Amino acid sequence: MKNIAIIGAGMAGVSAARTLEKAGFAVQIFEKSRSAGGRMATRESSYGSFDHGVQYFTIRDPRFAQAINEVPGTSEICRPWSTNAVRVLDELGRVIEAPLPAREKHFVAVPGMSSLVQHWIKPLEDQGLVHYHSQVLQLESVHSEANPNSAKSMTWTLHVQKGEKIVAIPGFDSIVFAIPNPQCRALIEHSMLQKLIHPDLVSSLQAIKHQIDLVVTAPCWTLMVGYPQASQPGIPHIGPQWNVAKSTHHRISWLARESSKPGKGHIERWTIQAGPEWSKEHLEDDPPRVKAKLIKAFAELTGIRVEPTHSVVHRWRYAKTLTPLGQPYLWTEDARVGTCGDWHIGHRVEDAFISGLSLALRIAAV
Ligand SMILES: Cc1cc2nc3c(=O)[nH]c(=O)nc-3n(C[C@H](O)[C@H](O)[C@H](O)COP(=O)(O)OP(=O)(O)OC[C@H]3O[C@@H](n4cnc5c(N)ncnc54)[C@H](O)[C@@H]3O)c2cc1C
Repeated sequence: MKNIAIIGAGMAGVSAARTLEKAGFAVQIFEKSRSAGGRMATRESSYGSFDHGVQYFTIRDPRFAQAINEVPGTSEICRPWSTNAVRVLDELGRVIEAPLPAREKHFVAVPGMSSLVQHWIKPLEDQGLVHYHSQVLQLESVHSEANPNSAKSMTWTLHVQKGEKIVAIPGFDSIVFAIPNPQCRALIEHSMLQKLIHPDLVSSLQAIKHQIDLVVTAPCWTLMVGYPQASQPGIPHIGPQWNVAKSTHHRISWLARESSKPGKGHIERWTIQAGPEWSKEHLEDDPPRVKAKLIKAFAELTGIRVEPTHSVVHRWRYAKTLTPLGQPYLWTEDARVGTCGDWHIGHRVEDAFISGLSLALRIAAV
């Protein structure tokens, strides 16, 4: 049985892992965080949770629809979220475009966005195949002493940070990168600089690196605010009548009333995303400074001038693909290394799922 290491437990990694496991491969997933989901993330607070990464997802591809409809327990987790109130606001919070017609359903996972990936990874967790708190630092190709020039007898060893320790985990036939493009590039480059890659494989990995260089990704500063003072009998909320808006404000591009999502609890909470340009310009600013600027912009847009009881910012360094690669995965036959993730074909959850699935089917077909 072929052993495959999958780096990253976001949607792409889990989609690839499930498919490979079903096809009879021995998979192991390495995830640097304490749980699965990646950018399908949920942050708890005393006032209820926030989906501070993905806001909602759509189901356009029949393969994604099939997984949602057929993996037991999934349809109970995915609920439609009525966002008919989407409007575009100008700098002063005035509506400058009529609400969009309800074209397609927007879905959220309950109780939080991370629940979907966590549900799908559970059978692999139950078999002990998922390693959390395990950041892959570098990979090393190991050739057999008896046959040093045969790529066929080569295996991969992962060097993994586990708490204070760095451990070497040998014996993988293939490596699947399911991580954002800059992190994937850095990991490959670092391994090459450390001379851990056999010279015969360097050109294949260089080719992957060159492909990754074509992809452009933007960061996103995200603000989460809570107003428990608004949740009194007879006062459903303190802000505007709409729940979701796109905005042309120079700081903010998206606002959503978190408490309008199904199963999210009634305490008034908003998740606010800064635009890609502003996020890039302020990427290294202190979080308190970013928070103050975004709260001010939020007040300008919504008219909510009350200080939030709860306010936190989160910086996503690699949030959104601006220019995707244009093909669903990368795979090199001689090194047996592949990449998947949203950045191959888009910037959405569904793209990550399709990418992971496509790479897994390619590997299974070898
Ligand atoms: C703020 C924001 C809003 C978004 N809004 C939407 C939306 O409304 N709708 C939508 O469809 N999509 C949205 N997206 C995009 C969506 O989140 C992504 O398309 C999708 O989640 C990407 O999944 P992935 O598996 O490719 O990557 P990720 O979810 O990034 O998963 C990668 C995983 O790899 C792990 N990892 C990284 N490096 C290592 C390493 N060296 N070792 C071990 N583990 C590692 C990470 O911890 C992470 O868990 C949004 C994203 C952000 C950030």
